Amino acid sequence: MSEQKTALVTGGSRGIGRAVCLELAGAGYYVLVNYRTQEAAAKETLIMIMDAGGGGELCPFDVTDQPTVAACLKDLTGRLGFIEVLVNNAGVAADGLFGLMPPEDWHRVVDTTLSGFYNVTKPLLKPMLAKKRGSIISISSVSALVGNRGQTNYAAAKAGLIGASRALAGETARAGVRVNVVAPGLIETEMTADMPRDRIKQLIPMARLGRPEEIARVVAFLCSDAASYITGQVLSVNGGML
Ligand code: NDP
Repeated sequence: MSEQKTALVTGGSRGIGRAVCLELAGAGYYVLVNYRTQEAAAKETLIMIMDAGGGGELCPFDVTDQPTVAACLKDLTGRLGFIEVLVNNAGVAADGLFGLMPPEDWHRVVDTTLSGFYNVTKPLLKPMLAKKRGSIISISSVSALVGNRGQTNYAAAKAGLIGASRALAGETARAGVRVNVVAPGLIETEMTADMPRDRIKQLIPMARLGRPEEIARVVAFLCSDAASYITGQVLSVNGGML
């Protein structure tokens, strides 16, 4: 029998992260569901995984808290062994015009995405390089590619994720570790709940928001052997927005 593969999804309690957890569990991964504060939502994700016949566990940590992340990942790899797939999905938005943006909104958004990438990816990379396999997928945004007004912090963070992933992909390609980015458009989650639907639909050629599962399926594809020659890429999933 082949060894069960393990995947870590940051921000797996809700929205896109939850859909990614379910999709990867359906593909046979033991899924580590990370979250920061919403334990009840994370438990719901885990119950959904188990109800569908999959396996996994909760792993709470704040991706910006480097020492805690390092300790949690050490414990997880000590207990469970190799983590073959990492999905850097945790993210926050704090929109506002740049001229009025308080420093905490800049730092919170950039730190969650970019320090989160560093803090979680680095400890998991070494074993991937040693085993010569692994897949790292980070969730960027259409905002990184077009630079939406009112999102300088978010666009900077999400564009940084693309640069970091491309650079890392170049460093790890020969060792068989693939690093890719998914750039969603506007997806039906809590993050977009307050946006006016009519105006949003005018921006999207397909005239609807995306569903979290439509991102999750692309993430699962990028993790799979079907994507074995894909690395350093940004895959847009946005209903034709670009
Ligand atoms: P949600 O706001 O619905 O969920 C965010 C998730 O991130 C939650 O699980 C939350 O945990 C977790 N999270 C936030 N901060 C931290 C942190 N510091 N440490 C650990 N976990 C954290 O977001 P979406 O599902 O909409 O978005 C998921 C990703 O996709 C984000 O990176 C977002 O930027 C990106 N994206 C979303 C789009 C959209 O239209 N929705 C479009 C393009 C990109 P908790 O529940 O505990 O708070």
